[in-house]
Amino acid sequence: MKNNFQKTITLECPSCKSQDLTLSHNNGYGECNSCGRKFSGGREELIRLNSDKIDDVKKQFANDATKELEKALKNAFKGNKFIKFK
Ligand SMILES: [Zn+2]
Repeated sequence: MKNNFQKTITLECPSCKSQDLTLSHNNGYGECNSCGRKFSGGREELIRLNSDKIDDVKKQFANDATKELEKALKNAFKGNKFIKFK
C-alpha cells in the first residue's frame, strides 16, 4: 500500500538556496557546496534555518491527512443510508 503521508523535505542553504549541502557523518557540521557557507550547528542548524519550508510541508501534510480521513470516513459509512456526505 502506498503511504500518502510521506513527505520529503529537502534542506537548502538559506544564503544561496542551493540544495548541494554536505553534512558530516554525524550531522554535527554542515557546509554549502555552492557558496561555502558553514553551518557549525550541522543538521540541527539547517533544519532551524529551513523552518519556514518545513512549516509549509507540515501544512500540506495536515491537508492531506484531512483528505485521507474524510475518505476513510466515507468508506466506513458506505452503505449507511442514514449518513450522507456531500
Ligand atoms: Zn549556499
